[in-house]
Amino acid sequence: MMSDTPSYGFDTLQIHAGARPDPATGARQTPIYQSTAYVFRDADHAAALFNLQEVGFIYSRLTNPTVAVLQERIATLEGGVGGVCCSSGHAAQIMALFPLMQPGCNVVVSTRLYGGTVTQFSQTIKRFGWSATFVDFDDLDAVKSAIDGDTRAIFCESIANPGGYITDLDAISEISDAAGIPLIVDNTSATPFLCRPIEHGATLVVHSTTKYLTGNGTVTGGCVVDSGKFDWSASDKFPSLSAPEPAYHGMKFHETFGPLAFTFHGIAVGLRDLGMTMNPQAAHYTLMGIETLSLRMERHVENAMRLAEWLEKDERVDYVTYAGLKSSPYYDRVAKICPRGAGALFTFAVKGGYEACIKLVDSLEIFSHVANLGDARSLIIHSASTTHRQLTAEQQEAAGAAPNVVRVSIGIESFEDLVADLDQALSKAAA
Ligand SMILES: *Cc1c(COP(=O)(O)O)cnc(C)c1O
Repeated sequence: MMSDTPSYGFDTLQIHAGARPDPATGARQTPIYQSTAYVFRDADHAAALFNLQEVGFIYSRLTNPTVAVLQERIATLEGGVGGVCCSSGHAAQIMALFPLMQPGCNVVVSTRLYGGTVTQFSQTIKRFGWSATFVDFDDLDAVKSAIDGDTRAIFCESIANPGGYITDLDAISEISDAAGIPLIVDNTSATPFLCRPIEHGATLVVHSTTKYLTGNGTVTGGCVVDSGKFDWSASDKFPSLSAPEPAYHGMKFHETFGPLAFTFHGIAVGLRDLGMTMNPQAAHYTLMGIETLSLRMERHVENAMRLAEWLEKDERVDYVTYAGLKSSPYYDRVAKICPRGAGALFTFAVKGGYEACIKLVDSLEIFSHVANLGDARSLIIHSASTTHRQLTAEQQEAAGAAPNVVRVSIGIESFEDLVADLDQALSKAAA
């Protein structure tokens, strides 16, 4: 219903897109369809579903009505044609790459990424015979020359974790377009309220819905949204989408499903065989969260901006990397890429280095010391001793996770309380 009317505003779509009153009961809120399987009308119906000739529900590893609402909602908010939800953000990254890659293929990726993604791309994907080439995405010539005949995608984050960096998505999508390969943007830190990567040329958008989209730190989840704009048949680089699929009697996904090819492949092959499925309970929590996304993001950004300004003036702090500050080298990209604000994640360097950071983290009372971000509550982590621990010193530095740096995810609590908490903890750290 609502997805046919994309002229609705963001605040309306975050509540209504993909949802309709339950046809059986009239339930206004989307029910949690806690069911593994769905009864076929008759044998012909079952055959049509299995042949992908008809869209419907078979088995919840593939599709579930609660998860389907969430898929449509996120796809609508991102301006894409379809979405596939899965069990975590990291699952979403594999689900995004899986249809594109083959053994021997590579993906060109930004050095400024979530620490877990650096590990997934530099280590684990090698087991599939894939590889990642890490490049500084501010060096456009380096991005171009990293692309070779085996490159199947470019990958970056819009607002990059651990914070302070915004990717010039327009410049990067010009490069991916020229090379005839898709651009995948992880939009977790920005959310579609702050940034819509498809409007800047992204082919696919991936999310860890664990973070702001759910917004309350309850469930992990991920989503891959397809813009529907990439021509998978323009070259022979993407046979999973353009060539006959043996498991479906030689059907070609792109020829059959057009702009929905990537989404159908994600469900009919990706979820079917990789099984990284989101469960309906998780979808429910995330649907609840998304209803208030815009309101929360406004407060997240406002608190982050004011706290970054306060910290920048504090003599116990060496520097603050928040792209919303005029001192940031990425300040000019805010207006272009994420005009509603630079997000709520940033890092700051504490005078006194590693030891002072540990003391700061242990002294805070409202801020929680956790390996998470995008929660309604304020969070802090010392990346060098935790999330970025597996990285080399150079990788830590490149990712903005040096030993004297802490990362904060600013929540939506009262600003005055957050300042007071940081103030007392910084005093203890400096002592
Ligand atoms: C958390 C996160 C991920 C991984 O998501 P999970 O849900 O933890 O698997 C990927 N990218 C970014 C930017 C993240 O913040």
